[in-house]
Amino acid sequence: MLVAESVRGLLLAAGAESGGDYWCPVCHGPVQLRRGKHKIAHFAHLPGANCCVSEGETREHLTGKRQLWTWLRAAGYQPQLEAYLPAINQRPDLLFRDGHGQLTAVEFQCSPLTVTRLRERNAGYQRLGIVPYWLLGQPYRHRLSREKQAQFTQYVAGRLTLLYWNTDSAQVETQSNLCRCSFARKSGESKAVIRRQVNQLLYRRVPTPVYTHLLQFVASQLGPQPLAYCPLVCHDTMPSWPLFMDELIYWRIKVVTMLATFPLFVAWSIDGWYQWLVRVGNPSWLAFPCLPRPPWEPIIAKYSQELQAAGIIKVINGQVILFKHPHWYKSLPEKLAAL
Ligand SMILES: [Zn+2]
Repeated sequence: MLVAESVRGLLLAAGAESGGDYWCPVCHGPVQLRRGKHKIAHFAHLPGANCCVSEGETREHLTGKRQLWTWLRAAGYQPQLEAYLPAINQRPDLLFRDGHGQLTAVEFQCSPLTVTRLRERNAGYQRLGIVPYWLLGQPYRHRLSREKQAQFTQYVAGRLTLLYWNTDSAQVETQSNLCRCSFARKSGESKAVIRRQVNQLLYRRVPTPVYTHLLQFVASQLGPQPLAYCPLVCHDTMPSWPLFMDELIYWRIKVVTMLATFPLFVAWSIDGWYQWLVRVGNPSWLAFPCLPRPPWEPIIAKYSQELQAAGIIKVINGQVILFKHPHWYKSLPEKLAAL
């Protein structure tokens, strides 16, 4: 930690003297000043102390917290470092009021954190009316899994974003370019995207659990079928933020498979249709603990529009009606000819 109690009140480690008496602001147990040529000045509990304040902070975390404090001050705010909030037993790295008077917490996350813990921390902040921002550190920069991307997805200026703090430049970095089509790293012309998806559905070398499950599900509903023969409407050709544990196209294929088993003219209310599409995606939706609501409305709306454009459903008087069964192809040449 960077802040401790002293006889003169709260004190920053950078301004503390060796050999002084310092105490933890949370448990009030004694702490030691640690500093050295290659160490960021910080305080640490004595061995065996039993305190909720985490020890063993990395150099990056200590550096970043100090930089964030300086950065926020330079921006005209009055940030508090490691302010302890007894009501929720949490201690954000930084706490400040923004330009609108909104109490805002900044967490610089350099270590692993489970979705459950993140939810608890966000719920704690919500109880106190604090808006938290999660800035990620170095360990989150390489090969971030979909789960982790979703876990720390936040709205910044209305856009889905990941936030990073770069301790080399002492700047915030944002990443909002995670949108992609199934199996495609870049967006492209939609026919090219569909061809690529067809290839991937045919020749996936390592079948994922979602793929295997879907293959079995399709076989149980429609008889054995290569997923690559799915109706064209299944192919997502507009990039979207990762929402599923696996590719978005699997959810789209599952929706179409289930529609094929329903009698024609079956109807849903608009809301019922939406809920049904959500249920079809269970349990593969990713968790978004930093968003007020899961962000899947846009992709559900998009897919509904495409199903309408394909004449499979129609929306009449506030009801969604199944009008046509989606067409599975008998062969690859037949499908590619339809492209
Ligand atoms: Zn303590």
